[in-house]
Amino acid sequence: MRQLLSQRKVYTKLFLFYCFIALVGLISNSLLLALLIFTVALLLWHYHHLFIMDKWLWRDRKLSPPISEGIWGHLFEGIYYLQRRDRRKKRELRNVVRRFRDGAEALPEAVVVLTDDWSIIWSNKLAQILVGLHWPADEGQRLDNLIRHPDFLHYLKQAKFEQPLELASPVNDELTLEFNIMSYGAEQYLLIVRDITQLKQLEQIRKDFVANVSHELRTPLTVLQGYLEVMDDEHLPDKVIWKKAHNVMLDQTKRMDALVQQLLTLSRIEASARVQFEPVVDVPAMLHQLEQEAQTLNRDKQHSIRFDIDDNLKVTGVTEELRSAFSNLVTNAIKYTPAGGEINVSWQRQHLKALFAVNDNGEGIAAHHVKRLTERFYRVDQARARSTGGTGLGLAIVKHVLSRHNSRLMIFSEPGKGSSFSFSIPAELVLGSKTKKREETPPH
Ligand code: ADP
Repeated sequence: MRQLLSQRKVYTKLFLFYCFIALVGLISNSLLLALLIFTVALLLWHYHHLFIMDKWLWRDRKLSPPISEGIWGHLFEGIYYLQRRDRRKKRELRNVVRRFRDGAEALPEAVVVLTDDWSIIWSNKLAQILVGLHWPADEGQRLDNLIRHPDFLHYLKQAKFEQPLELASPVNDELTLEFNIMSYGAEQYLLIVRDITQLKQLEQIRKDFVANVSHELRTPLTVLQGYLEVMDDEHLPDKVIWKKAHNVMLDQTKRMDALVQQLLTLSRIEASARVQFEPVVDVPAMLHQLEQEAQTLNRDKQHSIRFDIDDNLKVTGVTEELRSAFSNLVTNAIKYTPAGGEINVSWQRQHLKALFAVNDNGEGIAAHHVKRLTERFYRVDQARARSTGGTGLGLAIVKHVLSRHNSRLMIFSEPGKGSSFSFSIPAELVLGSKTKKREETPPH
């Protein structure tokens, strides 16, 4: 930057010029005329530079200043210096704003910056997806004109922002949103909107679960209580009634026990987040044992049950969890197929995977039930399932176990024809599959 212009120097220079002109005037005997001519020339010189400056600032709009000497050159450079500083500042500010916006865009929440009369200053992309605000189209619009839900308007009017507001999304009523407003900077507000749909669903699942467990436990307890209330020392039932009562009470106790067992299994599976896989799960041995148990269970219904097991097909996994998945599917087929049915259980290699399937020719399940079967406590026919001793937790357990073994339960069912429940254990958990893969690779 140039040094400050010295006033003294300028005035001295001007004074010397006038002296020189006066001298010339005196010599040529026209002092006044010489002084006038010089003053007018000086004025014109200044006007000329004023026009140059005006042209530079308003028409050329060039950054570099006009070339000039003396006081005007100094002024042009000064303006040029200020302009450059201004531009640099603007660039820095633009970067700061961009960084702020990038940060706000990266947030997993909708962000809206508002004035104190709720006009929109800025909003991010998520605000468009969650609440339908468009930026820059909605810039300057009042938020209470765009979100018209009465609860939201009331929330704004009340201006008690310590508690967030929960509301369905104005653009998608399947989403539940949480609105938070906080004051921000000078007379500005920040609206942050969070999608809490999943949280709400989890809360609902938890509530339903507690309600279901209580209901499931209360039913057998009511039966037991009913019998116990009519029996005391003075009113002992006769032998026939006692026998019936005893059987019912025993059934109900077994039902409660099964429910508690299943709940424990489910919570054990859910609680251990990290799966400790055993290197070898001898599935064929497990299925042969299950075959024996199935025959025992089959005594009443006399189905024809066929097991088709690949005796060399072992996997890595959690023995107890897999046993419970296999057993649940086989037991269900026996339970829900009318007497004399046909059940086929197979454990076979399919490509590099291991496929387990249970097919029955029972009553089948309607499609709208099929997609809900793995929900906890979901039963197609509540009354019948209870009479078969079902807890409604079996398939929920299977689903959980399978997801921990990178697998998924597949259900195909046709009412009146039968059902097929199957899943495949992926190649990386099937013993021998990797070796086989290497063998199949042709030598280079
Ligand atoms: P439950 O303990 O009641 O058997 P599950 O979760 O094992 O509970 O099964 C849920 C529901 O799915 C059962 O109540 C039954 O209605 C239906 N279901 C399961 N397996 C079969 C099958 N093989 N055939 C027909 N319905 C079935």
